[in-house]
Amino acid sequence: MTSFFRPSVDAMVGYIPSQQPKPGTPIIKLNTNENPYPPSQDAIAVLHNLDPEWLRRYPDPYANDFRQATSEVLGVPVDWIIVSNGSDDLLNLIVRSCADLGRKVVYPMPTYVLYRTLTDMQPAECVEIPYKEDYCLPIEELVAANGAVTFIATPNSPSGHIVAIADLRQLAARISGVLVIDEAYVDFAEETALPLVKEFENVIVIRTLSKGYSLAGLRLGFGIANPKLLSGLFKMRDNYNIDAIACLVGTAAMGDQAYKNECAEKVKASRAKLAVNFKQLGFRVWDSQTNFLLVQPPKGNAEQIFLGLKELGILVRYFKQPGLEDKLRITVGTDEQNQVLVEAIRNEGGERGEERGKIFIKGS
Ligand SMILES: *Cc1c(COP(=O)(O)O)cnc(C)c1O
Repeated sequence: MTSFFRPSVDAMVGYIPSQQPKPGTPIIKLNTNENPYPPSQDAIAVLHNLDPEWLRRYPDPYANDFRQATSEVLGVPVDWIIVSNGSDDLLNLIVRSCADLGRKVVYPMPTYVLYRTLTDMQPAECVEIPYKEDYCLPIEELVAANGAVTFIATPNSPSGHIVAIADLRQLAARISGVLVIDEAYVDFAEETALPLVKEFENVIVIRTLSKGYSLAGLRLGFGIANPKLLSGLFKMRDNYNIDAIACLVGTAAMGDQAYKNECAEKVKASRAKLAVNFKQLGFRVWDSQTNFLLVQPPKGNAEQIFLGLKELGILVRYFKQPGLEDKLRITVGTDEQNQVLVEAIRNEGGERGEERGKIFIKGS
């Protein structure tokens, strides 16, 4: 039978999202790196006081209020900022604008699975270069692959490690294509590569409000690059890619840096405690500058633990792919949630239902 679709669509696997149960479901959700704390009160207040007129009209196509707020926080000009429907929208925009037959997409592995999916949608080739054992950036191989787009997530998922700025600078200088630095987890990290956008014409830094700002459901992301690099992306994007509510709520959240930083500090403190707990259980734990930990159980039975935890209503992330099949990626929750997780693993999935009942946080 003939297909309805382009050959590249028929050939692709498609992104497989992790479980997203409804708020209020009695589970502990540590599978997709949401922030365990609620969004800023300022953002919630904007939502509660929303004038329905904002819904009747089309939104500002450039989300200028949000760009203005972001410009002030980051100290970059407004016209160096592009706003998107979650940062995934912007990653998609970059691939659609830059990748093509003979214009490759290149990235080190393992990393964010979506880069692969987005490339597969194009008639573009994907070059996946394995990280070295210690997550040292394979610069020579990345340069040699000569991508029209090179993706580096830093801090990276699922490893949690940060790529040295000096390595990114070297890479930016040596490739002719676009270097996309995906800083989805920067709010939990000790450094940012943002200054590189001023040094290099081919560098774009991508941020999101999904993780640090506790607004994954809002779908708001943005990129920072020189206006020449942004010009092609502005042509390709959907005219109204940021809805009116996202722009208003996001602007308020961006303005409340103190709250965002306070939550990040709590997550970082919990991350340190959780890492100690896992090490005490004999797990290997990778250093993380994110709101999750990559861990390797001593018996290597990651899938079994993943399934056992799921039985207990605790969701974590398991990737059935080479190099990750013996590891778990676990979002840092509140200290209470983390404690339940650690207890569950310590008891190898034993009956702790009653205890969990007390601690399950509605809507987490
Ligand atoms: C979560 C994540 C994103 C996507 O975030 P959204 O803004 O919610 O689309 C992008 N890159 C990486 C590496 C992520 O982990």
